[in-house]
Amino acid sequence: QIDILTLFPKMFEGPFSESLIFRAKEKGIVKIKIHNLRGWAEGKHLTVDDSPYGGGAGMVIKVDVLDRALSTLKSEIRNPKSETILLTPQGKTFNQKMAKKLSKYDHLILICGHYEGFDERVRNLVDEEISIGDYILTGGELPVMVLADAVVRLLPGVVAKNDSIEHESFENNLLDYPAYTKPEVYTPRQARGRKKWRVPKILLSGDHQKINKWRENEAIKRTKKRRPDLLK
Ligand code: SAM
Repeated sequence: QIDILTLFPKMFEGPFSESLIFRAKEKGIVKIKIHNLRGWAEGKHLTVDDSPYGGGAGMVIKVDVLDRALSTLKSEIRNPKSETILLTPQGKTFNQKMAKKLSKYDHLILICGHYEGFDERVRNLVDEEISIGDYILTGGELPVMVLADAVVRLLPGVVAKNDSIEHESFENNLLDYPAYTKPEVYTPRQARGRKKWRVPKILLSGDHQKINKWRENEAIKRTKKRRPDLLK
């Protein structure tokens, strides 16, 4: 189960009602619940944020609102292996290894920030902080979608052939090998250099041992060239 806390629940309507995540929900493999943080706001104006102490730009999401929201969600959890995650550009950079680790949990609570961010004390309420990269987005909604997609596709039964997950980029610290499909020879409309683009002969040989060896070598060559940091 994935519980998402957000101020903009509607943002999830499109991405979570199409393709892979939708199918995973339909099959009952994952349950995703979107919660509006405003539901836990209190006071006359039902505020979820306020101006920062000490002055400065932007609004800061209040710690009491998130504390109440998390208490409610946690009291409803029956799954023992649960992780509460704050999406923030200041967190650990997300990668496939982290997606794998998170796919082993029974339950995730994902918190989207907005505006200037959170009251610093929110950090005491979570298990980990994750960033999706060194850039600033308007809110945590897109990062949550990225994280949820990467995690859900690793759940057993979501991607049809387990094989296609096992051979993807970042498995064994390698990028994926090059793939080709029909036609065998293609003459491009705007030729750059070569006149004809051919599929490597080995892939047409039917010799699966040789094909696997070729793929492995290509994956290593490609990783050395594009992402030598992965091989280290
Ligand atoms: N002032 C904050 C800072 O510099 O760390 C950035 C706030 S950002 C405009 C608003 C919210 O968007 C953040 O609280 C976080 O939830 C989300 N966010 C923005 N960029 C992100 C990223 N790269 N990874 C994860 N979450 C991000």
